Amino acid sequence: MIWYPYEQMKTMKEPWKIVDAEGVYLDTGEKKLIDSVSSWWSVIHGYKHPDLNQAIISQAEKFSHVMLGGLTHEPVQKLAEKLQSWLPGDLDYSFFSDSGSVAVEVALKMALQYYMNRGEEQRTMILSLEHSYHGDTFKTMEAGDDEDYHFVLRAYGASPHVVHIPTQTEALEEAFLRYHDRLNCMLVEPLLQGAGGMRMYDVSFLKRARKLCDAYGILLIFDEVATGFGRTGNRFVADLVLPDILVLGKALTGGYIGHAVTVASRKVFEGFYDDNPEHALMHGPTFMGNALACSVALKSIEIFEKQDYMAKIRRIEEITRREMKDFSDPRVKEVRIMGGCVCVEVKDAATLKGYQQFAFERGVFSRPFLKYLYAMVPYIIKEEELVKVLGCMKEWFGRKR
Ligand SMILES: *Cc1c(COP(=O)(O)O)cnc(C)c1O
Repeated sequence: MIWYPYEQMKTMKEPWKIVDAEGVYLDTGEKKLIDSVSSWWSVIHGYKHPDLNQAIISQAEKFSHVMLGGLTHEPVQKLAEKLQSWLPGDLDYSFFSDSGSVAVEVALKMALQYYMNRGEEQRTMILSLEHSYHGDTFKTMEAGDDEDYHFVLRAYGASPHVVHIPTQTEALEEAFLRYHDRLNCMLVEPLLQGAGGMRMYDVSFLKRARKLCDAYGILLIFDEVATGFGRTGNRFVADLVLPDILVLGKALTGGYIGHAVTVASRKVFEGFYDDNPEHALMHGPTFMGNALACSVALKSIEIFEKQDYMAKIRRIEEITRREMKDFSDPRVKEVRIMGGCVCVEVKDAATLKGYQQFAFERGVFSRPFLKYLYAMVPYIIKEEELVKVLGCMKEWFGRKR
């Protein structure tokens, strides 16, 4: 039997079974549902995209996978080249892996070893944000700060290797003053903290973080697994503030195949590049650089560029702001909108109980969690479909109780 994610299996409601999917629609065979979650924020082009399907089919006819240990191939070379030219600054060195969590692990290992290679073994600490989420593997849980996901770590007690601060400049300055000689990196979900509750903060915090990282010689890591590829209304937040290491996942393959990449700047790469074999990065996921994943990622980026996805995302934000402008309810704490993300935070999680079924009956797939009712729609969504998703959210609060 299947053990489902984040579920108490004993009390879990039966999941809806999907038999087909096309565009923004999931199809149960009886009902078509707009996917307002984009399958955990990844399916940016919608389902069954003819060009993405074709990219996979064409590559599968050659080969689906060969390992990167001692071998290489055109799709992975082209994707690395594309990322090198497409990403800002000197983020030129792509280390591929099979999931976002692993890619963050790789980034943290890079930061730690970068200093070890220089003989600074005391730099074992990570500066991270309150409410951050970086994945479900152990080091990413430790770097993260979300009791709801990470409570098993209680068994180990507080980590001496991670400091969590709020997104406030004073806290940032204080943390650097106090810990700068033990930190190897600062790790953040830039501008938008996703799984921790769709929390949004100002770019000035990141600019200050960049300055402090430079002043103290600490690596800045952006976990853009969720925010990358336009979700915040920026192509990458890295376009605004340049990190030393950038992590991409989720939408990298248009949501087709699990794949992720840890992209290092020249400075980080050069921290490993010498004649000493012990200075090599000892990591190598079996499926890194999978040829199907790289082929579909290349096609996804091509479509993103050619069809001006940034304009589509601006339109989504405009429509969302317009539709939510006059919305208010005493049970709502805050409505937050940024790019292709909208979140209605309620005061009491019980307010959202039953919403998923309510939305289902109206033809929308939604998955609120805790106090957060949100939408992160595929970018190809039509105006009337987006209006329907938002209308469903508003209707929930307007209904008779
Ligand atoms: C989803 C997510 C991850 C983990 O990615 P997986 O592919 O699920 O391992 C890491 N960081 C952020 C910011 C995420 O949203």
